[in-house]
Parts: sequence; structure tokens; C-alpha cells
Amino acid sequence: MTKAETLTITAILPKVTHGRGSYLWDTTGKQYIDGSGGPAVYCLGHAHPEVNAAITAQLGQIAHGYRYNFSTDALEELTEIIRAHTGGSLREMVYVTGGSEAVESCLKIALQYQTAIGQKSRRRFISRERSWHGNTLGALGVSGFAERTTAYEGAFIPSIKLSPANAYRPIEGATPETAGQACAAELETAILHHGADTIAAFIFEPVVGAAGGCVPAPDGYAKRIREICDRHGVLMIADEVMCGAGRTGPWRALARDGVEPDIMSVAKGLAGGYMPLGAAICTTRIWDAIRTKDGAFGTGHTFTGHTAACAAGVAVQNIIAREGLLARVTANESRLKSWLAEALHGVEAVGDIRGRGHFICTELVADRDSKQPFPAARQLALKIRAAAMQNGLICYPVSGNVDGTNGDIVILAPPYNCTDAELTEITDKTAVSIRQVLQSEGL
Ligand code: PLP
Repeated sequence: MTKAETLTITAILPKVTHGRGSYLWDTTGKQYIDGSGGPAVYCLGHAHPEVNAAITAQLGQIAHGYRYNFSTDALEELTEIIRAHTGGSLREMVYVTGGSEAVESCLKIALQYQTAIGQKSRRRFISRERSWHGNTLGALGVSGFAERTTAYEGAFIPSIKLSPANAYRPIEGATPETAGQACAAELETAILHHGADTIAAFIFEPVVGAAGGCVPAPDGYAKRIREICDRHGVLMIADEVMCGAGRTGPWRALARDGVEPDIMSVAKGLAGGYMPLGAAICTTRIWDAIRTKDGAFGTGHTFTGHTAACAAGVAVQNIIAREGLLARVTANESRLKSWLAEALHGVEAVGDIRGRGHFICTELVADRDSKQPFPAARQLALKIRAAAMQNGLICYPVSGNVDGTNGDIVILAPPYNCTDAELTEITDKTAVSIRQVLQSEGL
């Protein structure tokens, strides 16, 4: 970023001074409620004393016990916590500093596994349009979001993109009820068309985040793709960077669909935003295959398993468990949806209110019947973000309409420990901000 760009951004954005629980304040003293946990990160809000104390205590011992010299209590404790959360055979993991690195590691684990079992021709990935997956080159290569990837076309690892799996916007010939089966069938057709022996893995977001707007896997979809992947020796990678770590209710988002992936990524909520931390987690079958071979699992970084970050992760996960917050997240799903629906009652542009747990999205469309998005030039998402900031609300609007396949979306991802009063303040302010923008646009 050039100096001029830095200055422009600084001039536009308010400067935050501090946060407490669900609230943040800027240098003018203005208060904001954090309705989206930034980009779905802060699952315990801000400045939690117990998390801060855990990090401080860890820093008092050592900042980072370099992973290739030492193990640490924090790393071992976090590993046991994650094993307990994931259950089943997802027992092995590598720690990284964020979501993109986690996805990158998942892709590498898949390639290493296919190599280790003698399937070296399996080099390609299949993913879906309207998926995020991250910002490093590997992750961007499987990302289905044209405006983010165009500049790098031709420089990616080979990947094949399928239609989004979205019951609100079923693929041609399907209904909301059959969307899952239709999208699963599309996966099998692609595997057969390109040759199963060329496909390393299928990667998807179990609840699609910023690229689609909290889109849950359509009914029956996840189980069907599990069967298809197994049938063709294709690994299943669940990218749970945004929807995982309890954001949608269960610790693993895909657990709700009754499916275990071979490999999964998790980040954002793992250390609640207090430290940069992510993980790529895989089954013991995969781990055993790759670690017993020469040149095995080689995806470490300098900050792999950063000790202070692991200490933050331990504290965050322990608080969530002790306070039973995931039950609350699950129970709040229908309340958040109905509060939003009530507050937005009569707003014609509301096409869909959907999501799971504390991960709820409103999609705005120009026409409810055809689900036609508003023209990109209207920049509704940007305007809603600005209106929300003025109203003292942090939410996460994304312009979904650049390629005409999605409406503008407004994502809410409140901290898991929000009070009821805070949750209604978030839904009310979201509705007010949306109404203001639509009204000022004459819509
Ligand atoms: N995967 C998904 C599903 C995401 O939503 C994101 C970021 O929002 C990423 C990967 C990349 O994570 P990060 O921004 O921490 O690199």
C-alpha cells in the first residue's frame, strides 16, 4: 500500500480506541455495538479479562516456543480441546496464523496424502463459485469470487468450479428442496468428466460466509457429497474458517449435517480474535499416511503453533465450554431470524433471511420473485456499511451483485456471549440502517 492510500484510509475510517464486551469506542467517544464480530471473529467480544490474563501470563513465560524446538503446554492443551470438540477421527492438526494459511495447509495435506498413497495424478481441486477460501495464491485459486481472482488467472493450481449450493438460488432445473441433490450430482458429473484420478479433493464452506451470505448446506447435500467423494477417492475438505469454532452452533459446522470431512480448516473464532490463530485438522488415516513417508507433512511456518496464540485459544475455548455458550448460540438462531424479520417487516427488498446460530444474513434483491439483484452501481452494501457505522453498529455488508448471481448481503455474527438486549440492539440497528439506505435510494 502506498503512503497516499494509507492516508486516505486513515482519513476515512474512524480510529478505534478500545472495546469492552460487545461494544467499541472511537477517538471521538462514539460507541459502536459489534454486530458482526468484525468479520465473524470476536466470539467473546472485546477485552475479556480472562483471555487477556491468559495471554499476559503466557507472555510472561515466553512469547513463542518455536514449534520445531519445543512443545508447549498451551499447544498441547489446545490440541486436546480441539480433539474433544471435533470428536471422531479428526484428531491431527497443524497450527497456523489465520484462515488463508489454514486453507493453504488443507490443500497441501490433500496433495501430500494423494502422493503418499500413490495417487500422484490427483493434482486438481474442485470447489464452488461464490466461495471465499482466502487470499493466498492456493486459497485464491479455489476461491469462487471473480472480482478477487481475475488478476491472478493463469497462475493458480488447477481447479474446477461448480455452481453455488444455495437453496435460495437453486441451480437450473432444481427447487429449494432438490437443490442439495442437484448440486451433489453436479459434483459427481464433474469428477467423472475430468477423471477421478485427476482430482485430489473437493473443498467447500459448510455454511458459505462472505461470498454468499451465511448460506447453509442445502438439505441432504453434505451427506451426498460425502458419499460421492468416498466413491471416487476424492478427499473432502470443509473450510470452516468462518462458520466453525461454534459460530453456527456446534463446534464443527458440518456436524449439524451429520458429516465428518477428511480435512478441515478453522481460524477466526478459534482464538476469538485475541491472537491470530488457525488450524488445519485432518483424520488419523490421512495423518498416518503422510507422516510415515519421507518428506512428510511439510507445511510449517515460523509462527506455527505460536504459544501466546495457543494460550489465547485455550482460554477462549474454555470460557465458551464453561459458560455453555454454544447452546445459547444454537437457541438464538431462530430468535435472531425472527427479530430481524420483524424489524424489517414490509421492506420489499428483503429476499431472504437465513443462516445458522450467530451467523445470520439478510439478502436484498430488486425483485423478490425473480431474486434479481440490485445493479452493482448502486453500491448498496457499501452504503449500508456507512449508515450502520453512523448508527453505531458494526455489521458486515458485502456487495454480492458484481456478477449478478447474488443480492447485496448484510451478515451479522455477534459474540456468543451477547446479552438479549445487545442482540436486539444489533437486529434493530441493522434494520434501521437497511431501511435508511433503501429509502434514500428511493427503493
Ligand atoms: N476461508 C473462509 C471461509 C473465509 O471466510 C476466510 C476469511 O474470511 C478465509 C478462508 C481466509 O481467512 P483469513 O482472512 O484469516 O486469511
